[in-house]
Formats: sequence, structure tokens, C-alpha cells
Amino acid sequence: MKFDTKVVRSSSVPDPTTGSVVPPIHQTATYVLEEVGKDKGFDYTRASNPTRALLEKHLAEIEGAEYGICFSSGMSAVDSVLKLLNNGDHIVCSDDVYGGVSRHFNQILTNYGLEFTYVNTSIPSEVEAAIKSNTKLLWVETPTNPLLKVTDLHIMNKIAKEHDILFGVDSTFSTPVFLRPLEFGADIAMHSTTKYLSGHNQIIGGAILTNDRNIFDKMKFVQKTIGAVPSPFDCFLTMLGLRTLHLRMERHNSNAQAVAEFLESHPKVARVAYPGLPSDPGHMIAKKQMQGFSGMISFELSGGIPAGKHLMNNVKLCFLAESLGAVETMITHPATMTHAEVPKEERHARGLTDGLVRLSVGIEDKIDIINDLEQALKGA
Ligand code: PLP
Repeated sequence: MKFDTKVVRSSSVPDPTTGSVVPPIHQTATYVLEEVGKDKGFDYTRASNPTRALLEKHLAEIEGAEYGICFSSGMSAVDSVLKLLNNGDHIVCSDDVYGGVSRHFNQILTNYGLEFTYVNTSIPSEVEAAIKSNTKLLWVETPTNPLLKVTDLHIMNKIAKEHDILFGVDSTFSTPVFLRPLEFGADIAMHSTTKYLSGHNQIIGGAILTNDRNIFDKMKFVQKTIGAVPSPFDCFLTMLGLRTLHLRMERHNSNAQAVAEFLESHPKVARVAYPGLPSDPGHMIAKKQMQGFSGMISFELSGGIPAGKHLMNNVKLCFLAESLGAVETMITHPATMTHAEVPKEERHARGLTDGLVRLSVGIEDKIDIINDLEQALKGA
């Protein structure tokens, strides 16, 4: 099947008992055995559930993966990957990862003997230089949240393989429509399904996709042992959202391109980060490895923090809200919202200034989005 068909049909399997086109929600904790030691493939929902299994199949098929494993959030998916490691192991990580990820690494996992080095993974020599004898994982986010830095996955894979370290990619911003990290040799692709994959601000969820049986077995073990699993209803809602992913991403992409060009030409905007702009430092790599640039933009106003605040407080169509990747355009202030817990000095060292504004461009009419930004920029 072609990609778009997989997006629509991978979990559209008519229910064998009724013919229902929409998959049933198996809202159950447990399953009756036929006899001792004989079940129908399911024994307890923490371990597995038919609705979740269907979502896992769907996500694996569109990512081009053999195996999919779903979690109750993007964070629990990241956490489960880190559970593949042991006390004393070292991780090299993109320096501009989502603030919740660096908070988890720095404030929780360091207490369990894991050690982290953050580098700009857009610069391969920085990655090479950070690798140590105990490095076990290279963790890359591309494009990053919120600065939209792009990393060359082909080169990262080469480095990871040369040093025999696990290579994982948080592909939440790209989605399988625009980028499939496993095709570049990554061992693991990860998503916060909260974002584009479900697409309608309706659930919190996460997923891991892999072609490696050993990784899959370990992740299934973590999943069933710890139990950070999505509810059957959340899996159902995610599957419904997924069916239009390719169409939504096309519109997110074209709207974001138009909005980024508008912002870049606006006299009150000092800089715009969007991989689809030829002026963006990640443009050439993004163009080479992605089939589109997705829908996330970050930018800074010439008037700094007061101007940014004025803009965010005066938008009417755009929602001032956390999160991203949904049909509605959402505007965010990373310094006080998504990345509030990254210490100020670290935020500034990363280039994540207090005046930075992040925009998740939705699938409304682009004229309305641009008009809204234009009116809110007037007094900024
Ligand atoms: N990875 C990225 C790139 C994110 O943007 C987020 C959330 O914003 C996460 C992971 C965490 O996902 P969740 O909020 O579903 O736990």
C-alpha cells in the first residue's frame, strides 16, 4: 500500500463480529480465559489490549516499522527508552529538546546514575566530541522544540553505528508524513502522539517504533511492567485522528510556509525560525531529508519581551495555549510555558530567549491566521 492509503486504512479493519468500519473500543481491564493457560491473545490490559494493539499496528505501518508500542504520554515513551540503559551509562542529547525531556533527564534520571551531555546535534563534530567510552544512547530531536534546529540523520546514524551506540529520534515535529527516521538507520523513532498524530487536542499519548526485535521485547516488558499505557478510549480517538494525518500535514505545512514568509517580511519581527525558509540555517538539510517542513514556527519581535507579550495577549483567532500539532493555531511563550522549568541561564545559553514566541500553525484559512497576527502585532 502507498503511504496515504496506510494512513487511512491501517487500523480500518472491519470488526469480525459486526462488520463495524470504526474499530470497537475494548474498554476492559481483563479477559476470560477459555481454560487454564489458554487465552485469546489477551489476558490483562496493562500487558495488551485489542484497541491499543490496533493503534500500535497503525503507527508501525505508517512509520515503516516492524513494531509499535504505545504509552500514556510522550514523556512516558521517552522514559521507557531510557529504561533500556543502566546505571553509569552516558547519553548524548540534542541541546534544544522539549523542556519536559531535559527536566526529566536532569532532575530525575541523573538520580539513577545516568549522565547527560547536551550538544547542538546540527553540528556533527560536537556530537563526535561528546561521545565517551560509556556513551550508550544518542538522542536527537529534529526539528527541535522550540528553536526548530534541524539535525542530519544520515550523519548521526553513521556516528552512532561507528561507536556502537543506540540511536533514537524524537520525530514529534516531523511526523511520518515528512520524515521516517528508521529509513536513515535510527534504532528508535519516538512521537508524542498528543500532537500531530492525534491532531485534535483530544488525548495525551506517546509511541515508540522500531525494527529491532530485541528493543521491542524490552520495551514491551517495560510497558507491561510499569503500566504507563494509554486507555482504550484514547487509542480509539488517536486512530480516528490518524486517518487524516496526511491531509492535515499538507495544510499545516503550506499554512506555516505562508505565515513564516509573512513574519519574515514584517518590520516588527527580528528573526524567524522555520526550516521551510531559505534563510533558515536548517533549510538545506530539512529539504534533503524531509518531504515537507511541518507546521511549527518560532520567532522574536524587535521589541523583545514586552512586544512578544503584547502579541500573545492580543491574538483573537490563535489560542494562547500549551501544546502544538492540532488543527487550531496555538501561540505559546516557551520561557513561561513549555520550557519554564529550564533554568534561566541554561535557557539563554541555548538561545531560548524571554522574547521568543512559538506558533503551532493550524489548518484554518491562512489569511485568517495572518490577519490575526497582523492585528495583534499593531501595538507590539
Ligand atoms: N517531545 C516533544 C518534541 C514534545 O514537544 C513533547 C511535548 O510537548 C514531548 C516530547 C512530550 O510529550 P507529551 O506531552 O505527550 O508527554
